[in-house]
Amino acid sequence: MTDPLFNKIALVGIGLIGSSLAHVIRREKLAGHIAISTRSAATLKRAEELALGDSYSTDPRDAVRDADLVIVSVPVGSSGEVAQAIAPALKPGAILTDVGSTKRSVIAQIEPHVPKGVHFIPGHPLAGTEKSGPDAGFADLFENRWCIFTPLPGTDPEAMACLSKFWRRCGSNIDTMDAAHHDMVLAIVSHLPHIIAHNIVGTADDLEAVTQSEVIKFSAGGFRDFTRIAASDPVMWRDIFLNNREAVLETLGRFNEDLIALQRMIRNGDGKGLFNLFTRTRAIRRGIIEQGQETAAPDFGRRTGEE
Ligand code: NAP
Repeated sequence: MTDPLFNKIALVGIGLIGSSLAHVIRREKLAGHIAISTRSAATLKRAEELALGDSYSTDPRDAVRDADLVIVSVPVGSSGEVAQAIAPALKPGAILTDVGSTKRSVIAQIEPHVPKGVHFIPGHPLAGTEKSGPDAGFADLFENRWCIFTPLPGTDPEAMACLSKFWRRCGSNIDTMDAAHHDMVLAIVSHLPHIIAHNIVGTADDLEAVTQSEVIKFSAGGFRDFTRIAASDPVMWRDIFLNNREAVLETLGRFNEDLIALQRMIRNGDGKGLFNLFTRTRAIRRGIIEQGQETAAPDFGRRTGEE
């Protein structure tokens, strides 16, 4: 039997991401001890019923004490509050990381609280579903997905190698980039699709000429896919838009310009323009399938999706 990578891992936040980590850490024997902390007694009780860890507390300081790896998995807007609470209990030499979907704002919230000698390495696994809470997690969530690190200048290479090894053992591929670049990339591949989904579902709900029951009864593939995305946790997504404001507004501006161009093509009967655009966009889908980030099987909305 090989030794676990870490003696003790603390999971602060035990929703979809935290509980998926608990499952994979257990399955891959990555820790001698899994300590779990979450804000509410009800979520903690559920985590305990699901036997996700070895110890449980609503006080995050109890969980992080003596931990070699601390993973913060809470909505991005709460990162600073959590960092401030755990800072005095962090062990010198420990690795502190997070899984937040935005990086510049999370770094700004956490970094000021990190004690000397603790290695803070911001991270973001590009893996998720529209579900939330401790029941939603599963061990394969990170399999063949990317985990992006946005390390700060002067990051200890040994701590970085150790955290990379951890995520590889969780099934992920690793990439590293600057936090501002991360936020721009995620604005286009994740945050913009979400805002469009929320908007389209809201528009359908507001249409006077079509009743809500018709929208639900006749929901075709396209609309159904949008409703899946728009069903994601409202707190998590509120925090993402408030914490990646600049990059989202920049991509939304570009999107609006392109939408107006498309509107003009339809108005002008520009079939060639529409065909050329749709041919180009179809090729993107093929590229994603070729890189193994999606299968070519038809999706009738029965599988879980990715963030
Ligand atoms: P989730 O299922 O909603 O779970 C959130 C967890 O954070 C719960 O344990 C909750 O505790 C705790 N929490 C909420 N507000 C808190 C606060 N103010 N202070 C302390 N703890 C708080 O969320 P998730 O989907 O796992 O997302 C967690 C993080 O991962 C977010 O930063 C998100 O951006 C990122 N992420 C999500 C996905 C995705 O698709 N879901 C993918 C990649 C990254 P209680 O239930 O006890 O209140």
